[in-house]
Amino acid sequence: MNNFDLNCCTVCPRECGVDRYKTKGACGVGAEVRVAKTMLHKFEEPCISGCDPERGSGAIFFAGCSLKCVFCQNKAISRGECGEVFATAELADEMLRLQDMGAHNINLVTPTHYIPQIIDALDIAKPRLNIPVVFNTGGYEKAETIRCLDGYADIFLADFKYGTSELAKKYSAAENYPEVAARALKEMLSITGTPVFGSNGLMKKGIIIRHLVLPGGRRDSEAALRLIADTVPSSDVLLALMRQYTPDFAPAEIKELRRKVTSFEYNYVLDVATSLGFDGFTQDKESAQTIFTPDFN
Ligand code: SF4
Repeated sequence: MNNFDLNCCTVCPRECGVDRYKTKGACGVGAEVRVAKTMLHKFEEPCISGCDPERGSGAIFFAGCSLKCVFCQNKAISRGECGEVFATAELADEMLRLQDMGAHNINLVTPTHYIPQIIDALDIAKPRLNIPVVFNTGGYEKAETIRCLDGYADIFLADFKYGTSELAKKYSAAENYPEVAARALKEMLSITGTPVFGSNGLMKKGIIIRHLVLPGGRRDSEAALRLIADTVPSSDVLLALMRQYTPDFAPAEIKELRRKVTSFEYNYVLDVATSLGFDGFTQDKESAQTIFTPDFN
């Protein structure tokens, strides 16, 4: 059992203080764990999904989210209560089932608001899990909550979405995102240490920071990368610099988000990343090299 109190929830930086047994917080869910989907996911970074078509990353997609990104591609599951209710033991069983199916890791997607329940499930499953546990998060985490994942999290697949409070407020209603995410990142690194790969090229430990370049957002991206580099040594993490923003999910009234990212914008941010010493991925899992290239997608 963990020490979180869902009667007065302060698990994430929203710190709603609501009784999740009676109502929902800003994350859109109560105390029951709701799982929207589980699957062998083939399209994470190569060192997470591997290249065997029969295998993949054992993804568990949770319903709800404490961030409110206007351009979210998963609004169908991120905005509230959908999916199936999983009791603690059932969640542990699902992790073990994914392992039996050949999952390279257990990939907990948007787990923030369920961290207390996930810790309980991992207490059951961990003795029989022999694959890494990945916390796949939007990056908006309390450092104190992340600290509780020591001994549970092997890998963080963590977004670092914004470098300025202006964009964080405008697009995710989270003005304090940059400083909160930076504190959390530091804590993540203290848990995982620097990246470790197996002889098969799959990641065993470490942090992959995902940053999605937004249309019109290259200056914010630059600020985000500089903040990351000021927070942790760039050589201690891997950076996935993403360019696959799709405008279809953005509201019509936010005009600057209604287009794709240009090559100029992406390359500008890529140059900043390179100058700051970040490494990333090639798409070739066999090499699992930390050589920064723009085509890791
Ligand atoms: S996890 Fe949900 S209820 Fe708890 S503080 Fe965050 S948004 Fe609020």
